[in-house]
Amino acid sequence: MDVSDSDITNEEIIYIDNKIKSLEPTQVAQLKKSFVVKHVMMLTMIDAKVCNAATNTKSTMKCYICGATSKDFNDLSNKRPCNEDSLKFGLSILHARLRLFEGVLLIAYKLPVKKHQLRSERKKQIVQQRKLEIQKEFRSQLGLIVDVPKAG
Ligand SMILES: [Zn+2]
Repeated sequence: MDVSDSDITNEEIIYIDNKIKSLEPTQVAQLKKSFVVKHVMMLTMIDAKVCNAATNTKSTMKCYICGATSKDFNDLSNKRPCNEDSLKFGLSILHARLRLFEGVLLIAYKLPVKKHQLRSERKKQIVQQRKLEIQKEFRSQLGLIVDVPKAG
């Protein structure tokens, strides 16, 4: 993603934020009672690309909340500062579940070699073989096709 994508995204966010701030409360009168509905809207339905642009996260391999990479996550004693501004975008439940499932699958594939990055051809073959076994088991036991990119 280049700088202009990030600029355009941030311009849109400012535009939408201003629209949200200008919303007037809605007055509702029903059954001799009146209610005032105050609108609280948050930009939580955004995808990773927009989220990275909005938080000026240059790499898709970095966490948009703390800036950590996969290498940093291996060090559990390392406390990472949380960019609280990034939390306003929330975590999409759907995306969180998909990412969790992807993460669990990736760990399962790489469990025999216990490495994140695969440098040797032998380890790549082991992981590929494990992936095929897991996909076959998902297909035969649950009828699910997993981790197969779908065209379009
Ligand atoms: Zn993080």
